[in-house]
Amino acid sequence: MRIDVVCAVPASIESVVTTGIVGRARQRNIVEIVLHNLHDYADNRYGHIDDEPYGGGAGMVIRCEPIFACIERLLSERHYDEVLYMSPDGETLTQSIVNELSLKANLIILVGRYKGVDQRVRDALVTREISIGDYVLSSGELAAAVLIDAIVRLLPAAIGDVESALDDSFQDGLLSPPVYTRPAVYQGLEVPAVLRSGDHEAIRQWRYEQALRRTQERRPDLLTNLTAKESR
Ligand code: SAH
Repeated sequence: MRIDVVCAVPASIESVVTTGIVGRARQRNIVEIVLHNLHDYADNRYGHIDDEPYGGGAGMVIRCEPIFACIERLLSERHYDEVLYMSPDGETLTQSIVNELSLKANLIILVGRYKGVDQRVRDALVTREISIGDYVLSSGELAAAVLIDAIVRLLPAAIGDVESALDDSFQDGLLSPPVYTRPAVYQGLEVPAVLRSGDHEAIRQWRYEQALRRTQERRPDLLTNLTAKESR
């Protein structure tokens, strides 16, 4: 998979794509991630990529020219499955969208800052718009980093134990059950006996019940969706 990120401040994403699971996946050629700095595509000698909004008002808007120049160049080089724009008014990111995107070959992720990007970019180039939640960041690099991390950890061989991605929260419509590690007793606090019993069927059952209970308590809406899906 190849992901191209088009943004104003690549340094804000650098650490996410060079360290941890994403960094390792890049080193092992599981994913190629290329960061593009919009300032390199500025069409004026000052390197300005934004300008005041038409109609007045506060804030700055990223201009069409550098974005079209960068994205059109990429599109001429290879086929992209999606040109994503990170935006608070996009579809809210869910595990199922992440799963879907993780199956693509080439993605472009565009991010804005200040007031966002000129609407003509969104109309002409962007194929899908994604929000990471109902709040506003000053700049989209962090949102792109969230999306990249969520996608890359699903790529085959990106994490050692594939199981550990498959049984995460949301993958089966439920939140994850509690997890414990050694020691068995810490400051008088005990790990549930069943997890130390070696009885795999009992452990599976306990985890399922705990996942169900946690979901009922914290996210009953997920259970409603699950029942609706199952009865379809
Ligand atoms: N004026 C815009 C917000 C722009 S925020 C509005 O009210 O909708 C500046 C940039 O940060 C955006 O271009 C986008 O790329 C990014 N951004 C901010 N919040 C985000 C969110 N919740 N999800 C995804 N991207 C976000």
